[in-house]
Amino acid sequence: MLHSQAQELGQQVPSTRPETSSAKTLMDIGTRRIFNEDHDIFRQSVRRFYQEEVIPHHKEWEKAGQVSREVWEKAGEQGMLGVMIPEEHGGIGADIFSVAVTWEEQMYSNCTGPGFSLHSDIAMPYISNYGSKGQIERFIPEMTAGKCIGAIAMTEPGAGSDLQGVKTYAKKDGGDWILNGNKVFITNGWMADLVVVVAVTNREAKSAAHGISLFLVENGMKGFQKGRKLDKIGLKAQDTAELFFEDVRLPGDALLGQLNKGFYYLMNELPQERLVIAGMAIASCEFMFEETRNYVMQRKAFGKTIAHLQTVQHKLAELKTQICVGRAFIDNCLQLHAEKRLDAATASMAKYWASDLQNTVATQCLQLHGGWGYMMEYPIAKAFVDSRVQPIYGGTNEIMKELIARTIVSQN
Ligand SMILES: Cc1cc2nc3c(=O)[nH]c(=O)nc-3n(C[C@H](O)[C@H](O)[C@H](O)COP(=O)(O)OP(=O)(O)OC[C@H]3O[C@@H](n4cnc5c(N)ncnc54)[C@H](O)[C@@H]3O)c2cc1C
Repeated sequence: MLHSQAQELGQQVPSTRPETSSAKTLMDIGTRRIFNEDHDIFRQSVRRFYQEEVIPHHKEWEKAGQVSREVWEKAGEQGMLGVMIPEEHGGIGADIFSVAVTWEEQMYSNCTGPGFSLHSDIAMPYISNYGSKGQIERFIPEMTAGKCIGAIAMTEPGAGSDLQGVKTYAKKDGGDWILNGNKVFITNGWMADLVVVVAVTNREAKSAAHGISLFLVENGMKGFQKGRKLDKIGLKAQDTAELFFEDVRLPGDALLGQLNKGFYYLMNELPQERLVIAGMAIASCEFMFEETRNYVMQRKAFGKTIAHLQTVQHKLAELKTQICVGRAFIDNCLQLHAEKRLDAATASMAKYWASDLQNTVATQCLQLHGGWGYMMEYPIAKAFVDSRVQPIYGGTNEIMKELIARTIVSQN
């Protein structure tokens, strides 16, 4: 039976696409059974975008500590923002696999400056999933166009892992809210036009989780100040910042979703955030592996390329195996998420395992570059420093293990 006939009859057709383990390189287009030809075409355009619009400017953005506004708008024009947000809300309306293409291509470009995934796949879903019609109409099309940059502010100087410890407080004042507090480590914080802010709204709630709400805070509101762009060891072109709220008067319709339901919304959305980090981590491993393969094939020592050394060959064999094993699990998580079956513990496994692997691969690939790997002019050096944050944000890997462990020892 022909492939297309079988598809018409709704039968499962075995994919002929190679998995990464048997592909020529780990970054090949046209691989992996979770994708189809439409994804390949999209991948080609996203790859071109990074080559033409991001890579040539990234060094300059690293010095500036932020990317340009222009690149956001160009990404919007290219259909790379709000990819999974429904079309009827003003997003692109594509599937999770197309979104994965955008994360992967960013990591293959080794350019971590643009906070597109935080904007599109972490901040925008809060508005799309819990926002009112008015909020959706006002913000989503602008965010999809890259004209309104989004951020999400949970972490505070005194509350990171322990999200229930947030102190930022919104007090009711007639129909308005008065917001006070401060946030730290906020991705896209300096450039953000719109921030989803986590705040306490009921200090007397039976538990802290029952007294937290989300607010949409806009740049330029009186009393909303941005602090400095934070000086980080990596992610140099990413405008991670502190945010301060001093008696910011928010209109009643700045509340996102229902009052005191914020913690519940966060718990619902965090698995996707963790999948984003995991997806980026594995893609970064693939990039670092290919970078290193190229390096050892041309670097000479003792009259031959170092790729001739058996210890180097075995190291590459180990790395490739680990990355392909990781890739299989992450692709499975993508498939589960497409079917709305990715649970919190599985997403936590993906985040913790892939981001730890990313750091192992970074260390070992840098080692295979010798002293040159320690020089920032070599891509592996940038990939190494940029990897370090992955086990920290989005919930630390220790917290991931807590979440996984709970499902193991729970008796119910
Ligand atoms: C570059 C960057 C970007 C970020 N972007 C954002 C953003 O956009 N929005 C946002 O809201 N936040 C953001 N964060 C914050 C990030 O999510 C937090 O840093 C992270 O959740 C950890 O919180 P913390 O830094 O307060 O560390 P702490 O919570 O103080 O943790 C310190 C150490 O104690 C461990 N620990 C804490 N509790 C436990 C426990 N119960 N069991 C075992 N170990 C534990 C941790 O694992 C960690 O090793 C970002 C951080 C960075 C560095």
